Amino acid sequence: MTSSIRLGRIAGIEISVNWTWFLVVILMTWSLAVSVFPHDNPGHSDAAYWLMGLIAALLFFASILLHELGHALQARRDDVAIEGITLWLFGGVARFRGMYRSPGVEFRVAIAGPVVTLVIGGALVALGAAIPLPDVVDGVVTWLGVINLTLLVFNLLPALPLDGGRLLHAVLWRLRGDLMWATRTAGAIGAGFGWLLIGGGTVLFFAGNGFSGLWLVVLGWFLQAAAGAEVQQTTAREALRGRTVRELMVADPVTVPANMTLGRFMDDVAQRTRYTTYPVVDDGHPVGLLTFSCVAERPRARWDGETVRACMLPRERVPVVSPDEDASEALDALTDDPRRALVIDDADRLVGLLSISDVLRAIERSALRRYGNGHTAPA
Ligand SMILES: [Zn+2]
Repeated sequence: MTSSIRLGRIAGIEISVNWTWFLVVILMTWSLAVSVFPHDNPGHSDAAYWLMGLIAALLFFASILLHELGHALQARRDDVAIEGITLWLFGGVARFRGMYRSPGVEFRVAIAGPVVTLVIGGALVALGAAIPLPDVVDGVVTWLGVINLTLLVFNLLPALPLDGGRLLHAVLWRLRGDLMWATRTAGAIGAGFGWLLIGGGTVLFFAGNGFSGLWLVVLGWFLQAAAGAEVQQTTAREALRGRTVRELMVADPVTVPANMTLGRFMDDVAQRTRYTTYPVVDDGHPVGLLTFSCVAERPRARWDGETVRACMLPRERVPVVSPDEDASEALDALTDDPRRALVIDDADRLVGLLSISDVLRAIERSALRRYGNGHTAPA
């Protein structure tokens, strides 16, 4: 996720917050301080309500973080690679690399988060009811408990990408043993649910409940887009299953030396070959990636004074994959800019260049194979 700030690590898992998170904390604090707490716990000062609001909002996100840690720790137990946890506009998200090995793994990872939320919500509500606490503390504790349980119900709706949707996906996958069918079915239900929220939100909006309506529309839009992306991603991974980077890459691409001047590059290399991207090598080792557009954007007068090294994207900023890596794993590396990866072998030699279009072409070809020439295509 772009524009996120790293907070640190918990149990080795990287935690970051997206800028939209600050927006939600502010909105939530405000709404709690001016409306929820004055209504539920009357008779306190404005300062007390603002403090309650801020503490409750932060603790709310702490409980979401625990929920995501539940997913992540179970994932680690099941050998799923974890990229990290990000808090953002719609709560939290635990990011994993690659696909779930089996429906069992998917089910266990998906259920772990809701179990954490159930424990937190249940414990807080019980605490608020059983022990006489000062009113302001009780207000925060009870609200936190109730909001966690409310969230749990929403979270368990059987709509991808919600946890309930993931559980449904795992069950469907187990029942028929057909990953694609399970993904399309769970994805369609998720998208349908997203549209339902958009419809409901629109009605609320015009019925005079502007803010809630708008929020539901945004949430619904996010859900249906995420459900669609999930189906697309799984289709792509299935198409790439069993194929390696070596099969899809362009082998032995035209390279340029790092100390060549941009003028010579334009005259000798670019004129002759006309690619958009060139791997850069130095002393036989790959050191970066030069794009034709980067050179073309520089003033012509500077071409003879500057080298390729000054213009290239250094290797640290370019995805690097191994030739024997799974092509579907490499797809993850190509979703950010630049949509190209250097293919480098164990001896640190450049063996190829892999672009997102190479991968997409392979996916398309696989789809064509599966559906034949169109006469047998399913409706
Ligand atoms: Zn979850």
